Formats: sequence, structure tokens, C-alpha cells
Amino acid sequence: MRAPTGIAAFGLEGKSALVTGSSQGIGRALVEGLAAAGASVVVHGRDAGKAARAAAEVADATGSQARSVTFDVTDPAAVDAGIAALEAEVGVLDVLVNNAGIQRRAPIGEFSDEDWDVLMATNVSSAFYLARRVSRGMVERGSGKIIQIGSVQSQLARPSIAPYSATKGAIVMLTKGLCADLAPHGIQANAIAPGYFATELTQALVADEDFSDWVRQRTPAARWGDTRDLVGALVFLASSASDFVNGQTLFVDGGMTAVV
Ligand code: NDP
Repeated sequence: MRAPTGIAAFGLEGKSALVTGSSQGIGRALVEGLAAAGASVVVHGRDAGKAARAAAEVADATGSQARSVTFDVTDPAAVDAGIAALEAEVGVLDVLVNNAGIQRRAPIGEFSDEDWDVLMATNVSSAFYLARRVSRGMVERGSGKIIQIGSVQSQLARPSIAPYSATKGAIVMLTKGLCADLAPHGIQANAIAPGYFATELTQALVADEDFSDWVRQRTPAARWGDTRDLVGALVFLASSASDFVNGQTLFVDGGMTAVV
């Protein structure tokens, strides 16, 4: 069968998609965007009630099927068990979005071992555990889309977030490595690198007027991102419109990384 062309190539009808960390924030907007494009979606987080409520809202808003799952992405056994249970219900996923992530801030000399470890586990190891488990079924089937949520911080450094930047830099290379392993099996792995978006993760930065002004001045679009700004890029990378795009990181940052 020939792949669809034109606008039809962006449709996700009949596709299943899991977005990790989609009970709130960026993930919440991403999972609703995939559902609006026709995908049957899985909302995920650690808090079962919160994830179930978000799934019900997404189903209401889009008319697409939305279920919820709960597991800690830093625990490889929990990831394997969670995906196995999900596959038993919906089959091999068509789309995996590795979005769950955290932020920790401190000058480098004061950065604790605990914060380093939890950042690495949540932002990097999780993406590896999920991609490893989900790609097995995708390889057998010969198709699939893996999308990682990186950050402008993979390219631009700022004081007090060196370890966070390191995790997001790792995501860029993990994405290229997944491409190397999986492209021959009909699977595309790409990343989206957001600029600054107002969510729970950036609450303190939004509340800091000087920092908030700096974001507006430093962003050519002269504003903070709206989580809905990320949906177009995600639907593109999740759909067959991007079947020959692989190993790339797409910056959705209002021009921040293009301009000094
Ligand atoms: P939020 O803090 O708003 O949401 C984080 C989500 O991740 C929640 O749903 C949370 O679920 C989940 N999560 C966190 N830790 C775990 C865990 N161990 N196991 C399972 N789920 C977990 O963050 P954002 O929406 O702002 O960020 C989402 C992604 O976007 C992150 O990777 C972040 O680095 C990235 N990003 C964000 C930017 C921004 O400006 N906001 C800019 C650039 C990148 P629950 O609380 O239910 O466990």
C-alpha cells in the first residue's frame, strides 16, 4: 500500500500512542494533540487518579479513546511491566513519546549526588528503558515512531543547571543512536527541543519577573511558549509525513537557538 501524501499523511487514525508524563504540563498538551489528530492515546504519570482524570478530559475534548497507565519511569522493572500490560490491552504501540522529566537547580559546587542521580534517572535512563522495551515490538512489526522531548538547554547553557543540560544533551545523542539501530527496521526516532514554556516545572521562573522578562527579550518571538505550540511538530513526527526524517532534533523555541 502506498503511504498517504498531502494533509492525509498527518492523520493518526488507527494509531496508538503513549506519552510519558502526560498527566500535566507539556505532556498533557501533547497527548491531547495526538488524540485530536485521531490517535488512541495513553496518558501516563505516577499519580493514578491524576492520570485517569487527564485521560477522561482528553477523551471528552477530542472524542478519541484515551486510557491511563501509572508507573515510575526511573524503575526499569516497572517500565517493562507497565509496557507489557499495555501491549496486552492495545498491542504494540505505534508512537512512544518520552516526555517525563524533571528539573533541579543549584550552582555546580552545591549540586548534590541525589539531585544528579534523580535527574539522570528521570530524564535519560527513562528514555532508554522505554525505547528499549517498546522498540522490540516495533522492530517485529517493522514500523514505529519514537519521539523524545529534549530542551534548548541541550544547546544553550545557563548557570545552575549544568546537570539538566547534560541530560538534555544526552537525549540528542540517544535519539541519533536509536536512529542508527532502528531506521533499518522502519522506525523513526526524533526529538523535539522546546524553548521556555510555563508549566509546573518552570513555576519559579515564571514567578520571577526579571527572569520572565529575560525569556521574552531572549526569544525572537518575544513571548513564552504555549504548550499548544509544540503539537504541530509532534503530530508531524508521529505521522507518516515524517517517514524519511530520522535522528533529528527539532527546536520549537520561538527562534531562541537561532539568534544570539
Ligand atoms: P511538569 O513538571 O509539568 O510535568 C512532568 C510530568 O512528568 C508529570 O506528568 C509527572 O507525572 C511526570 N513524571 C515526573 N517524574 C516521573 C517519574 N519518575 N515517573 C513517571 N512520571 C514522572 O513538566 P513539563 O511539562 O514542563 O516538562 C515535560 C518535559 O518537557 C520534561 O522532559 C522537561 O524537561 C521538558 N522541557 C520543559 C520545558 C519547559 O519550559 N517547561 C522546556 C524544555 C523542555 P506525576 O507528577 O503524575 O508523576
